[in-house]
Amino acid sequence: MAKEELECSFCGRKKPETNLLIAGLDAHICDRCIEQAHGIVLEESKESDGGDLSAELKLRKPLQIKEFLDEYIIGQVATKKVMSVAVYNHYKRLLQPPSKDDIDIQKSNIIMVGQTGTGKTLMAKTIAKMLNVPLAIVDATVLTEAGYVGEDVESILTRLLQAADYNLEKAEKGIVFIDEIDKIARKSDNPSITRDVSGEGVQQALLKLLEGTVVNVPPKGGRKHPDQKFIEVNTENILFIAGGAFDGIERHISKRLNMQAVGYSASMSDENVDQSNLLQYIIPKDLKDFGLIPEIIGRLPVLTYMDPLDAETLRAILTEPKNAIIKQYKKLFEMDDIDFSITDGALGFIVGKAIDYKLGARGLRSLCEEILTDAMFELPSSPDKKLNVTKAYAEDKLTKTTLKKLKAVS
Ligand code: ADP
Repeated sequence: MAKEELECSFCGRKKPETNLLIAGLDAHICDRCIEQAHGIVLEESKESDGGDLSAELKLRKPLQIKEFLDEYIIGQVATKKVMSVAVYNHYKRLLQPPSKDDIDIQKSNIIMVGQTGTGKTLMAKTIAKMLNVPLAIVDATVLTEAGYVGEDVESILTRLLQAADYNLEKAEKGIVFIDEIDKIARKSDNPSITRDVSGEGVQQALLKLLEGTVVNVPPKGGRKHPDQKFIEVNTENILFIAGGAFDGIERHISKRLNMQAVGYSASMSDENVDQSNLLQYIIPKDLKDFGLIPEIIGRLPVLTYMDPLDAETLRAILTEPKNAIIKQYKKLFEMDDIDFSITDGALGFIVGKAIDYKLGARGLRSLCEEILTDAMFELPSSPDKKLNVTKAYAEDKLTKTTLKKLKAVS
């Protein structure tokens, strides 16, 4: 065939009408047809991936999970490690094709014990973000036994469905974070005092959910829409992460450690025990002594603890994480071409106030907001394009009244 007669075997365009004509064995293809074919390939692969979680789920190895957590969460090394393994195992289990042997990998639901504001919710949120799965955050205190004022346990799954935009398949592989799980501990050892509608009864109701079962869930939630059609949700592959402060659990831990020291094990004598952070010695029995029923504890097999936040950690929280508070302010000011900086002295002052007034990490943001509101109000319309927050500046903006107000809110 003469050279000028060459044409695309797909669209018939002559060589001079194309930008590029690629020769195959017995055929030719032009640049336009290649582009089109590429489009079709992309479409096809998208369709075949649609709804397929394994394609969307970004599973990393435990080490990489921890590295991801490190970008957003300061400290909490023990929990990060335990979480990375638990999450990795959980998703490995559900991405695995059904196995022929009888080895059934159990769910690795997690329970985190630690003071409020130490990053428990942040931990769950970061894991969900990393995996790109829906997350529902629920507060155990609003749950009551069916038939009482409050929310049924099933409402947890309504939230998850909502978080997954009602995509059932996604919801069934999502994460549920149950906050304040300690508040549903048995109120008293004597069951006859009052009806314990938000305590042991709720624990019993939660059991099935944690273990894995099919639940009829009202998609709109609540009892206000009696006519709605229920959706069947299987909780077998939902990862449950529970968190709670368990105020006073240190007493149980300390008592147990003392008993061990008196008994056989001399290794746990007083000198070896770090009294400032007793939570690190927590074991499932302590949760039982606190009032969680053994069945619940059994279904939350991964137990871990959060370290209390000291000054150094609070300071790092202000400046280091990927979306640290100070970084956020810097960006906000930058949008108005304002050069924002803050001195070490000012950072130390903010951290000091957060500790003095027991505001924790959550208080850091409110403190910054109080200190910077005037500047954020005035500077955008001022010719002054520089703000350096010093300790004196921070002290000046933060009056006693605002501090009292912050304390009342927290
Ligand atoms: P908890 O669930 O334990 O009560 P949160 O996760 O809600 O605490 O934390 C409250 C806020 O404090 C979060 O918004 C987060 O910005 C900050 N925070 C707490 N602990 C940490 C941490 N270890 N690293 C980074 N930020 C933290």
